[in-house]
Amino acid sequence: MKITLSLFATMFICSSTFAQIPILNGYDSPLPTVVTPGLVSSDGGVSAPSDAISLFNGKDLSEWTSKKGSPDWTVQNGVFTVKEGTEDIFTKKEFSDFQLHIEWMHPADITGEGQGRGNSGVYMQGLYEIQVLETYNNNNRTYVNGQAGAIYKQHSPLVNPLRKPGEWNSYDVIFTAPTFNANGTYRTNPRLTVMVNGILVQNNAIIYGGTNDDKIFEKLTGPILLQNHGCIVNYRNVWIREL
Ligand code: MG
Repeated sequence: MKITLSLFATMFICSSTFAQIPILNGYDSPLPTVVTPGLVSSDGGVSAPSDAISLFNGKDLSEWTSKKGSPDWTVQNGVFTVKEGTEDIFTKKEFSDFQLHIEWMHPADITGEGQGRGNSGVYMQGLYEIQVLETYNNNNRTYVNGQAGAIYKQHSPLVNPLRKPGEWNSYDVIFTAPTFNANGTYRTNPRLTVMVNGILVQNNAIIYGGTNDDKIFEKLTGPILLQNHGCIVNYRNVWIREL
């Protein structure tokens, strides 16, 4: 009797398990959109793939603006650079969910320490900062959720794969925009996945609110903002794919 019951139970479990598995047939359409990847330069730069929006054409900052109007950052030889005494810059276009690629480099002769050493930042929707700071090899000690690869004051980077000053670093970012309840609270929080030089440093991290004050801003879209913290930081190869 025991054996019979056990056999019956097994059959029941198996049949109900099978019933929940979808039929795994192949199908022929729709075909995925064909995308041509960007080119990789000898120093590791990655240009925009064919379906991306380029946010820097190598010649001017026509995709960007600032609170005072046209940005006054320096553009030279396919690179743009934070200029002291000017403002943050942000894209004219606004975005919701996206994949972002951006490369940055600190000068080889960089000076300063702590949060004063090569500080800048990349803000999703103008609100959520991924920190840019010269913290190669953990040589420049500061609070760990404020070093490069951190979601500023919310999440430390999982590892530190930075290259040294004078060499290019890259961020590849996947951003999932928040959704909101009728009373303005998050229905789903913003989420960030970040790679530094192709290495995962933030894995679908939950964002609790805007950088610094953790406030919830009821915004569905926003610009990419680059912070002017008074430090010289070079940027190039900035492109975005809307998801
Ligand atoms: Mg910063």
